[in-house]
Amino acid sequence: MKAIAVFPGKAGSVHLSQVPKPHVADVPNGRGILVKILRVGVDGTDKEINAAEYGAAPDGSDYLILGHESFGRVEEIGPRVTEFKPGDYVALTVRRPGSSLYDQIGTYDMTTDDTYFERGINLRYIIRVPENLKEVGVLMEPMSVAQKAIEQAYRIQQRLRVWRPKRVAVLGASTLGLLSSLVLRLRGLEVTAFGNTMPPFLNSRLLEELGVRYVSTKETSLTDVSAKYGPFDLILEGTGYSPLVFEAMNVLAKNGVLAMVSVTGGSRQVEVPADKINLGFVLGNKVAFGSVNANREYFESGVKDLSTAELQYPGWLKKLLTHPVKGLENYQEIIRLLTDSKGSIKVYCEVAAIEGAQTAAAAS
Ligand code: BGC
Ligand code: ZN
Repeated sequence: MKAIAVFPGKAGSVHLSQVPKPHVADVPNGRGILVKILRVGVDGTDKEINAAEYGAAPDGSDYLILGHESFGRVEEIGPRVTEFKPGDYVALTVRRPGSSLYDQIGTYDMTTDDTYFERGINLRYIIRVPENLKEVGVLMEPMSVAQKAIEQAYRIQQRLRVWRPKRVAVLGASTLGLLSSLVLRLRGLEVTAFGNTMPPFLNSRLLEELGVRYVSTKETSLTDVSAKYGPFDLILEGTGYSPLVFEAMNVLAKNGVLAMVSVTGGSRQVEVPADKINLGFVLGNKVAFGSVNANREYFESGVKDLSTAELQYPGWLKKLLTHPVKGLENYQEIIRLLTDSKGSIKVYCEVAAIEGAQTAAAAS
């Protein structure tokens, strides 16, 4: 079968590859599930992998198959699988358990292992997606990442016993920023989202539909916006521009929490007002934490929020699917859209058509 792969460590090595088709019987104890991949989304991580800034090949192999935002349909199940049946739509978790204690209790997203294994084709890592979400199922993985960061922030804040966040800032207005804004709106919060483009453009219009205030960092800084609409009790930083983290620390409300979710493979250096940030954290009892990946719990809460979103903001999720590319053989186009398309939200490959759904050609 076909796959889009890279040679990790070799920049620009993305290519179409022929790989052996897996079989249900490859998985021990009759617990295999064969999933036909229908759609795969790409994001900044894929861009970094192709730029050789990130990523590694599995043991014993020199190539890495791209695609951690996958959505598919069960084709065949092993004799001892009772949880799924052929025809079920599914999303797949990215990471497989490693060896740390965190991995052993199912929180492999919290692993302390230096090497973690991201992907997996075993039952444990498959989440059923209701048929009525099939057209937006490719958003499941980024949704799970948003779910985890927000849920973790709430759990951390249980330290305060009476934390009632009101104002929230979401830094970054791409897929993750949009989905995070959605999740926070579903929790009833007042959300201000930041992007680096001047409105009106699709992302700002989509935020408006959620009742989120959009602010362009071209016009105002986070510090100014915080003085006007803050202070923010929760700030989620997902722009990929790490210096913003320190500005966010500085303006975070007392007793506030900052969630850092940008995976930044670079080596940027900045000067920061260290005393001021430190003093603000100490005297203001603030918290900052990092969040990566998501375990199945967050995929499951993601399914719920996607369903609620379809009811509360009908048709909204689908508008995120701006750039479908039909067929794996058009991998160059996928990379091109990922690297230089302005105005795209989710770029994804339509690997195979979804029954009863609009095709990529019709949607674009
Ligand atoms: C993925 C996560 C993954 C992280 C680090 C992100 O793009 O969405 O699932 O853990 O990259 O590899
Ligand atoms: Zn990702």
